[in-house]
Order: sequence, then C-alpha cells, then structure tokens
Amino acid sequence: MQNTMANNMEWEDEALEGRSYRKVDLYESATTEKLADLYKSSITLMGEDVEREGLVKTPERVAKAMQFLTHGYQMDPDEILKSALFEEDHSEMVLVKDIELYSLCEHHMLPFFGRAHVAYIPKGKIVGLSKIPRVVDVFARRLQVQERLTCQIVEAIDRVLQPHGVAVVVEAQHLCMMMRGAQKQNSITTTSAFKGEFEKPATRNEFINLITANLMNR
Ligand SMILES: [Zn+2]
Repeated sequence: MQNTMANNMEWEDEALEGRSYRKVDLYESATTEKLADLYKSSITLMGEDVEREGLVKTPERVAKAMQFLTHGYQMDPDEILKSALFEEDHSEMVLVKDIELYSLCEHHMLPFFGRAHVAYIPKGKIVGLSKIPRVVDVFARRLQVQERLTCQIVEAIDRVLQPHGVAVVVEAQHLCMMMRGAQKQNSITTTSAFKGEFEKPATRNEFINLITANLMNR
C-alpha cells in the first residue's frame, strides 16, 4: 500500500496473511477506545445489557468497523490517481463498469450500496485501471449522500487526469429507505455526473449504451 494513509496516525492491520493487498480492519487504538465507550452507552440506552456474553465485545467491534467504513477520510484520491499515471495517445473512451460500492448515508449512518460506472476520455494521460475503483472507495468510505459521491468521483478524475471528459453513474439501494421511513424495499436510486465531452448527448449516449449493454453475457 502506498503512503496514502495519513502519516500522523498509526494504523494497526489485522489479518493480512495470505493476501496480496491490504484490506480490512484499519483502526487507531485511541479512537477505538473512545468510540467503544460511546457505543457502550448507546447500546445501554437502547435497552440492552452490554455485559451479556454476546455483547461484551460488541462496542469494540463496532468501533473498529466504523473506522473501516469511514477510512476514506484518511486517503487522498489525487495521490492514488497520480501513483499510476501514464502518458498515452489513446483518446477513446475508457470505461470501468460495475464497480461494487458500499457507503454510509450521512443522514442515518445506514449503508447504501450498489454499483458505480466510471468513464473518461483521455487527453495524453491514462491511469492504471485498478485506481478507478480505489478512487470510488475513497469517497464511498465516508459519510455520504449519493449525489455528492457521484460528483466527487468525477471531479477527482477531472482534476488529476485533465481528460476530454468524465462520466459517472451510480446506482444504489439505501437501507435507510428500505428498513425504515418509506420502506420502499426495491427502489434503486440512480445519480449521474458528466463533464467535458460527456456533456454532449452523442458521447453521453454512447456511455449509457455501454453501461447498459451486456457485452460479456453475464
Ligand atoms: Zn439515510
């Protein structure tokens, strides 16, 4: 992992064995301790006995999980993109579709999840393809609204690559709608943001056709 983590925080890293990439539990001990105390109070306020066997370690687990789910704050999308930039004449659309996405809505801190489709038209620079899902993650692993998440992905790619255009579509289901409130169990929210060439209907339509096409017959 490159030094995209904040330098002033020491991250502990669990369960790395056998993995070629750094995944999972990123947490900071002092924060974990404080958060665990707060979750202990929360669980008690909800009417539970935080000392019963199944719950004893829950505050600490939640504290760690929440730090993981918001670790995007510690990462710099520009650095991630800059770490794999290549000069290249290619100027056709580059599309990464069906990027899995998990985020937390900032209104209820409940998950929303779905897929992102990201395209850009290079202007002299391309980026390593694996960096695109990582940039999606940087913004998804924060407290978010889907609309802002969509725009932030577009803006980061536009800022660093300065391409002819960028397009992002995000489709997601929000647990705050499904489990509470409206209880619309199957509704999917779609948001999109377009910049440069993608503001032209023809280019935008080509992108939409590509993301809706079943090219690999899955
Ligand atoms: Zn919500």
